[in-house]
Amino acid sequence: MNMPRATVSKLLSFSCVDGPGSRMVLFLQGCNFSCATCHNPHTMAFCNDCGDCVAACHAGSLSLVDGHIHFDPTACDQCDECLRICPIHANPMAQHMELSEVLDRLRRDSVFLDGITVSGGEATVQLKFVTALFKAIKQDPSLAHLTCMIDSNGHLGPAGWAQVLPWTDGVMLDIKAMDPGTHKRLTGRDNTKVLESARILHDAGRLEELRLLVIPGLTDSVAEVAALTDFINGLDPATRLRLNAFQHHGVVGSARDWPAADRACVERVATMLEGAGLSAVARPTVYL
Ligand code: SF4
Ligand code: SF4
Repeated sequence: MNMPRATVSKLLSFSCVDGPGSRMVLFLQGCNFSCATCHNPHTMAFCNDCGDCVAACHAGSLSLVDGHIHFDPTACDQCDECLRICPIHANPMAQHMELSEVLDRLRRDSVFLDGITVSGGEATVQLKFVTALFKAIKQDPSLAHLTCMIDSNGHLGPAGWAQVLPWTDGVMLDIKAMDPGTHKRLTGRDNTKVLESARILHDAGRLEELRLLVIPGLTDSVAEVAALTDFINGLDPATRLRLNAFQHHGVVGSARDWPAADRACVERVATMLEGAGLSAVARPTVYL
């Protein structure tokens, strides 16, 4: 039987900001949204081996071998020019990892870890791999103490959640906007599946937290905040909601001209949310 393998944009051995405790984070390549505010746009697409980035690499790390992009990490100085030049927001440095490789990394570091988080891109684009990985972790006595979390944009239907949730401890879910038109402007898609995902995850006891990116003039309006409050109150007013402040770091395109969210803007949103009954609103820890 073929074991699933992942296309990994980046593997972070330890993180304390991607879920509870100390976690390994797999940033999986590929996304089904095209967010204007994305700060990792090079994770959006899968490389099509066009070769445009080869000449842009001053270090000679990139080449085409048998029609496929080949990355030599020993020469790379991480200038990121290949990411800037790629016309489709792909990453020639993404690596293919077998399930067994990821499990071996986890076994090596498991004594230092509380769990693993799969992020992206959008992790559920590689649902088959995520499901196989989490199932293998839960069935391995040396790894079963690790919690398995997904950082998701929520664009997954009920059948997809049914595959992965039996092996998943929690999901951190982005709500980009409540107004469908604003959501489409921000992501390229409406939010029907996202809101349905929040309900599914809540009902399954797997909604670790919701996240809102506060963008001045777009997601901080009274109408947006009221709609979000109504929605969360309909789930459970004690649902944790993490507020993040829109910043320009890594953003490409027109959103670079949008104003960043400062502490006062986020605090105004937090005060409105708490005033309407939400009891677990978390502020950003840093403003870049
Ligand atoms: S990373 Fe982008 S530019 Fe480089 S080969 Fe792939 S699709 Fe082409
Ligand atoms: S980041 Fe990309 S362009 Fe820069 S040295 Fe590495 S492979 Fe080459």
